Amino acid sequence: MNIILLGPPGAGKGTQARKLTEERGMIQLSTGDMLREAKSSGTEMGKRVAAIMDAGQLVTDEIVIGLIEEKLDQNPGASFIFDGFPRTLPQADALGALLERHGMMLGAVIEMQVDDEALVARITARSTCATCGEGYNDISKPIPADGKCVKCGGTEFTRRADDNEESLRTRLMEYYKKTSPLIGYYWAKGDLKTVNGLGEIDEVAAEITALLG
Ligand code: AMP
Repeated sequence: MNIILLGPPGAGKGTQARKLTEERGMIQLSTGDMLREAKSSGTEMGKRVAAIMDAGQLVTDEIVIGLIEEKLDQNPGASFIFDGFPRTLPQADALGALLERHGMMLGAVIEMQVDDEALVARITARSTCATCGEGYNDISKPIPADGKCVKCGGTEFTRRADDNEESLRTRLMEYYKKTSPLIGYYWAKGDLKTVNGLGEIDEVAAEITALLG
């Protein structure tokens, strides 16, 4: 089964995608992670997208569709969780065509609903283990007092360059203008399911599990 996690920045898509990866052996395809990797390894594409990402704007459809196509080609027969993709209507159309070409079905599109105030609070408080990518939040899941990651024992934690209030406003604007129309798009196709993204991580995961069966 292939699923899309849809929701604004900070809704918890990455957190839930990682849980699904661990529990169901699905492959997480986060275009945000792929772009950050390109940015930090200094590839030509990474250099081109760095300023756009830091400002909170969307990179071109062509770039992200290319990244997804490459992953689908490299992993025939796998089940994917699309995290942060598609984010525009052309991306959604392109994904539909790619799935069809690879003989793959879309199982569900899960919209994670959260209110905007909660998003701002979550995003400005979040950090990640630099070694294994485990996510933390100053309020709901602080870094342990001994300064070691619960998962891998790593001691270095990073905050995203675009997790500041100014970029976040732009990211939210991009979401409402360009991504939120996908809710109606997938609803009309009969693929949309909704969960309350405001709960605890395990509560949200249980809701998703119940939906997927
Ligand atoms: P994310 O980690 O999903 O929040 O993505 C971080 C940033 O990467 C976004 O603010 C965009 O600049 C860029 N990005 C990620 N996915 C996409 C996408 N599907 N389309 C366009 N830009 C994207």
